[in-house]
Amino acid sequence: NQKVVLITGCSSGIGLALAVRLAKDEKKRFMVYATMRNLRKGEALVEAAGRTLGRTLEIKQLDVCDENSIKACVDSLPERRVDILISNAGMGLIGPIECQSIDEMKAVMDTNFFGFVRLLKEILPEMKRRKQGHIVVISSVMGIQGILFNDIYAASKFAVEGFCESLAVQAMRFKLNISLIEPGPVITEFEQKVYEEGLKIDLSKADKVTADMFTNIYLKNYKQIFESLGQTPDDIAEHTLLIITMENPPFRHQTNTLYTPMTTLKYADPNGDLPIDTFYKVVFEHDKVFNASLNFLKLLRWRSRKSFSLEKDKSN
Ligand code: NAD
Repeated sequence: NQKVVLITGCSSGIGLALAVRLAKDEKKRFMVYATMRNLRKGEALVEAAGRTLGRTLEIKQLDVCDENSIKACVDSLPERRVDILISNAGMGLIGPIECQSIDEMKAVMDTNFFGFVRLLKEILPEMKRRKQGHIVVISSVMGIQGILFNDIYAASKFAVEGFCESLAVQAMRFKLNISLIEPGPVITEFEQKVYEEGLKIDLSKADKVTADMFTNIYLKNYKQIFESLGQTPDDIAEHTLLIITMENPPFRHQTNTLYTPMTTLKYADPNGDLPIDTFYKVVFEHDKVFNASLNFLKLLRWRSRKSFSLEKDKSN
């Protein structure tokens, strides 16, 4: 009764950790197809997979931006069967939009959003036919709440989340599950790549206030946020394992409890001003953060009810 799992973007980070974690499952519950755009980047995965390679893990080529590559990969699977699809491949982009080209922005949408849609177009029809399947997306807390200078990245994750919310009702009719995994910062190459790209941005196209905000507030705090709040790819793999083995998996799952007060603000205020005011204060008026924290606490009551229901599901 082994479940077939297909994961995208497995040459590094969360995808790699997850593929290996599932392949090494003691009960051998998963057959993992760990896919990557460029097979020449498979060394780290091969090494981490060890003896599972050729047994519970196989590496395949799949570029989420190329329909032919997706089709070829799915065609190569026994009976084209995928029980659990994990859409993980993604890329980041930070900086003022004045300094980004539309092509750069399109690449983010094409990978993070359309990449997922292309996968589904290939895999969803068979899941529906079998009335069985779990669609899992490595989204982000930025799929719930936008963050300063992550405009395009947040938009791409919002796109994924809106898409999944729409699809979820239809999926339910076919007994399919959809789950959005929403990590906060995770210490991977992603974070490093995004930071290095950020340092290279030509800020001459932005006004002085914006350029200063990006360099002296955003970039200056970037490393510290990852160092103090960041999770490891292995943490995210454990959370994902929990979600895919639940009988009734939740639609959304945040992996970092330090972030839940922040995302809770979103749901607490239908006007949408509370998270924006709070972020403004966090960034520009540190002394007012204390009051903002009080607001957090009031809202935590709501959050604890929610996590309680998740704990209940876990213990079932
Ligand atoms: P990462 O850069 O190590 O992994 C991303 C992977 O996607 C890479 O292996 C990359 O080669 C692959 N990829 C990019 N374009 C592709 C394409 N066209 N086809 C196939 N693969 C492609 O970073 P990560 O942190 O492991 O990111 C994995 C996912 O987690 C992403 O969707 C990212 O948005 C999300 N995420 C990351 C963080 C973080 O802080 N690192 C936080 C929340 C969510």
